Amino acid sequence: MAPGGARGIRGSEDLGYWVGELPVGCRLCMAGAKSVLFATGLCPEGCYYCPVSPQRRGRDVVYVNDVEVGEPGDVLREVADSMSEGIGITGGEPLLALDRVVEILRLLKEVFGEGFHAHLYTSGTRLDERALEILVDAGLDELRVHVIGARSLEAVKLALGFPVDVVVENPAVPGEVEELRGLISRLAELGVRYVNLNEMEFSESNAHSLALRGFRASGDGRSALGSREVALGILRWVEEGGIGVSVHFCPAIYKDVHQYPRRLNRRALATRRVFEEVEGGVVRWAEAECSGELWRLALAGLAFRVGEACYTHPRLAGALRVGTLVEALPLTPRRVLNEYPVVE
Ligand code: SF4
Repeated sequence: MAPGGARGIRGSEDLGYWVGELPVGCRLCMAGAKSVLFATGLCPEGCYYCPVSPQRRGRDVVYVNDVEVGEPGDVLREVADSMSEGIGITGGEPLLALDRVVEILRLLKEVFGEGFHAHLYTSGTRLDERALEILVDAGLDELRVHVIGARSLEAVKLALGFPVDVVVENPAVPGEVEELRGLISRLAELGVRYVNLNEMEFSESNAHSLALRGFRASGDGRSALGSREVALGILRWVEEGGIGVSVHFCPAIYKDVHQYPRRLNRRALATRRVFEEVEGGVVRWAEAECSGELWRLALAGLAFRVGEACYTHPRLAGALRVGTLVEALPLTPRRVLNEYPVVE
């Protein structure tokens, strides 16, 4: 589609809306095919709306998909277990852990191939030519710059000279329509192709800071009231004005409704044990003391004995009305959510 042509606004309430094309990183994220590497909780910026949790903020900790990382091999295992086709590298400011990021990035590309997609978030204030060269050489595909000032814009200009997709990703701050229009017009002039507008999150970590500035939480408590309207207004302005940049509005609900369950579902399918069933990002199995009907199932190879317990498929346990049904998140080890007596 030629910049400025009529493109239309696509999407849905929980998936978000966009005009133009989505960055590759967003397309993979929507399929649940991106793992998330939290490279460090360190960041010098102190944005008042920062959503990083108090447990991670200011600490040099590393997580992949919420699992703490001890060594780079942990990232490989989690990415493989989640059947991910790419990684989003976030923080904190990942550039403060550049050596770590580059080591992991090289490892991922080496093991999963050049087609494995990597995008990295940064405020850009620490980005220089050398860092970009190293990142691009390690295989970075997409750079996402959170523009917080003039130095971020300099980083955007610098990155446009490198073989990497440049995306600007900012929160849609209530009341800042004119500032966003000015930013997007400038980005379009520079030749930036993609802008992501996040619904401004209200979370445990920023609620106090947002309330002090007069922002209020929306009905579901996830986002700042008015952020969604600002983003949708920008989409209409971009569409009607034929502004030559693709803009994507990502709602706060998206992570819980799409990204997280879809990633879990892929993880469940990849790590399913023979006695588990998978549905909606959770796994279920039946277990009980290994005696009676379950013992007979074990002898027939239809239940699996570990110590004193037998594990079998929920359908078999349901037919025999034995055992306890266990529902769990498909993590390693499984994280139990609920337990019920089996009834058919
Ligand atoms: S740049 Fe990002 S991580 Fe750093 S304070 Fe701002 S929102 Fe938080």
